[in-house]
Amino acid sequence: MKQQDYPPAAQELIARLKRMPGVGRRGAERLALWFLQQGRTEAQALSAALAEAAQQVSLCPECGFFAEQGQLCIACSDPERESDLLCVVEQPTDVLPIERSGVFRGLYHCLGGKISPLQGVMPEDLDLPRLFDRIRRRPGCEVILAVGSDVDGEATALYLADQLSRLDCKVTRLAQGMPAGSGLEHADAVTLMYALQGRRSL
Ligand SMILES: [Zn+2]
Repeated sequence: MKQQDYPPAAQELIARLKRMPGVGRRGAERLALWFLQQGRTEAQALSAALAEAAQQVSLCPECGFFAEQGQLCIACSDPERESDLLCVVEQPTDVLPIERSGVFRGLYHCLGGKISPLQGVMPEDLDLPRLFDRIRRRPGCEVILAVGSDVDGEATALYLADQLSRLDCKVTRLAQGMPAGSGLEHADAVTLMYALQGRRSL
């Protein structure tokens, strides 16, 4: 006797959803069933949105934040930004909490991770050459290290502060008050605003 299961197409959908971050087997089933119950219009709209995003969204060639394919991001293409103020973050997703704090008017640089010897992430795995290049193009600029306050974030900040001391720039770090041991994505806008305003020199 064959065991009852979802039809193959539904199984494929569940398997693909399960690969997404934070989605387990049951979550994938719930999402799949919701889509199947919505009918064809919702499914077509989602698949069109996915295809369009995959085709059109890329990373900014200057700072590493999300941008339209082959173009600079909104911040890098804005002439009103303070171009001698660079805010260094771990991930592109760390940019938006800072933007929403409303106090930062400079540019960003996404490292693409943080130094973590335990997880095998070394300085050469981060987007540092492009950061150093950007700093060299802006003598006397300020570099704000907006990396997390966890152990790996601290290690990254220490490494960067040492490397940047050889370049013509002022290095600052977000003020304390950020949630201890966590990344920027957990910080609310007000906390980030005070952390930016109270940044200290390294
Ligand atoms: Zn950019």
